[in-house]
Amino acid sequence: MSGAGFILGINLVVAGLIASSFMAVAAHSRRPLPARWLALAYLVGMINPVLEFAIASFSNSPWMFVLAFAVILGALAILNIGIARKYEVGVPWLTMGLVLAGSIVACVLTLDMPRQSFSRMLIYQTPYFVMQALAVSIVAQARNRARLDNALMALLAASSLQFLSKPFLFQIFGGTGASPQDYLTTSYAMFSQALGTVFAIAVALTLLVILMRDVLSDAAARSETDPLSGLFNRGGFEQQADIAIRAARRLGMPVSLVIADLDRFKSINDTFGHVAGDKVIMSFAEFLRSAMGEHHFGGRIGGEEFATLLPGTNLVAARLFAEGARSTFAGTTIEGLPDAKHVTASFGVAELMDGESYSDLFSRADKALYLAKESGRDCVKIAPRTEMRRAGDRPAVAVSV
Ligand code: GH3
Ligand code: MG
Ligand code: MG
Repeated sequence: MSGAGFILGINLVVAGLIASSFMAVAAHSRRPLPARWLALAYLVGMINPVLEFAIASFSNSPWMFVLAFAVILGALAILNIGIARKYEVGVPWLTMGLVLAGSIVACVLTLDMPRQSFSRMLIYQTPYFVMQALAVSIVAQARNRARLDNALMALLAASSLQFLSKPFLFQIFGGTGASPQDYLTTSYAMFSQALGTVFAIAVALTLLVILMRDVLSDAAARSETDPLSGLFNRGGFEQQADIAIRAARRLGMPVSLVIADLDRFKSINDTFGHVAGDKVIMSFAEFLRSAMGEHHFGGRIGGEEFATLLPGTNLVAARLFAEGARSTFAGTTIEGLPDAKHVTASFGVAELMDGESYSDLFSRADKALYLAKESGRDCVKIAPRTEMRRAGDRPAVAVSV
């Protein structure tokens, strides 16, 4: 078997392995469609080596040659659909359709041109270049590109240029052979196939890593999110709070914690049912979300207990935030409850002090919340800043607003 034939054989196996890897990723993804399109692209690509072997061994039909060309172009088009679906960008159907149809016609019309003609080679390779360059423009349109996505874009750009380089390379390597049957015996075929294989594998591996990254970050986000409220759950909130506290400390910014607990919530469940109770939880979460500023974030840290972290906010401003939230929520009517029924919440507020961890801050805010409950509910209490806690100091004291 010739060197190029050997590479074609490897292409066949590698494309199959890549297609199965994309299918495996699709099985673990919440959005399996992009990975399925990418698997299909490599499956369609597998037809090409089979056709190339057929051309080299027994088929003299020029249609096989056109088909082998169209199969790779079709695989690149399907790859573009997968990439567009992954990045949630519109598929350039019309452009791809025109490139596909126009280039197949051009391929047929140039069948009679001399095999060693530069222009014929250019006409043959340009559609591949355009199709792969479309992938670059698709990724370029994506919002929120990370470094890995930019790397993919660069790789796709290099891969598209690789196609354009072939009309020059085939001259350097001594041509594509006297007839289609000779192609696989040429040095050019070996180099061209090897180059194509390297790029096809590199693009596939980068896409696989990107899809795996998405699967992992999606799983991490889900494990940190409370499904009922859409806010962070307790674990997620604590993790984010730790990060925010470290950042605030580095920047020398104040940071405050507000915790809120719905008042007499058990009686809402008992009177109006658990479903209505759930609606109240959702309403309060939505209300908190609308009250929060850009750098604030919230979590549902217990059944009907919520926390909001306010980086860049001192105790006075955090108290105002809590007071505003308390009075506005108390006046809100909630879907699923009678209009006359108003639900209230009690609030505890604390500002981070020097040397404090998140759990120290939380425990002071919680004490303030406890005092708010003790004081008759529907009110805000703050844990005073003056309360310095060295070993042997007096215990925390919360004050009324
Ligand atoms: P307090 O004013 O002292 O906070 O009284 P409370 O009734 O709000 O507090 P308590 O801790 O006695 O009751 C909390 C109730 O919240 C009990 C529980 O059934 C209810 N609960 C916890 N999680 C959920 C939930 O996800 N959905 C609903 N509908 N109820 C929940
Ligand atoms: Mg409660
Ligand atoms: Mg509670």
